[in-house]
Amino acid sequence: MTSLIDTSPLDISHASYAMDIPAERPWSHILRRGQTLRIIDSEGQQAVDALLYCLDDPAERYSAQDTLRVQGSAYIDLGTRLVSNRGRVMARITADSCGRHDTSAGCCSCESNAVRFGEATRYQHACRENFILELSKYGLGKRDIVANLNFFMNVPIDPSGNFTVVDGISEPGNYIDITADMDVLFVISNCPQVNNPCNGFNPTPIRVMIWDPGAL
Ligand SMILES: [Zn+2]
Repeated sequence: MTSLIDTSPLDISHASYAMDIPAERPWSHILRRGQTLRIIDSEGQQAVDALLYCLDDPAERYSAQDTLRVQGSAYIDLGTRLVSNRGRVMARITADSCGRHDTSAGCCSCESNAVRFGEATRYQHACRENFILELSKYGLGKRDIVANLNFFMNVPIDPSGNFTVVDGISEPGNYIDITADMDVLFVISNCPQVNNPCNGFNPTPIRVMIWDPGAL
């Protein structure tokens, strides 16, 4: 199931940016062309929902459908090119020590929680609300939220095409590196979901780091 796993030569002491994102919280940052963003699953089994927007024109944004079609594969892994709705490569996966990332299952929301897990869960915090909060800083809103990436989320697809969210396989310290091919706004929701196993029923902090072009 898992494709080639690779580790990165990047030296953590040479990173130009580092931030711990608390459990359940959003984060965003502008990633310049050639910069590499590392997302670290600090404690393991933590899903990280993500969206990318072209900085010059946010109407151009990450497209899950184009990404899957271009690479001809259902998972996000080493070498995957993250493609926009205009068919351009926004970024690519340049290292991956986990080996399992999803872009099929979408993000959690108050509405979907109520449908999937019952009315009592409607008021639990969710990724869609995180995205709305973070996007509002850039003049973007609900209509700008599209099908997203789910780093470290384990959604195996069986031969008949069925899939479901199951226990994450990422271990503490697993990471994925994303190198930008254009200037992008990178938005993260550190998923607060507690009703399915995507976060091991215990949302935890993650860490992000950025390296400038050419840094090792
Ligand atoms: Zn979520």
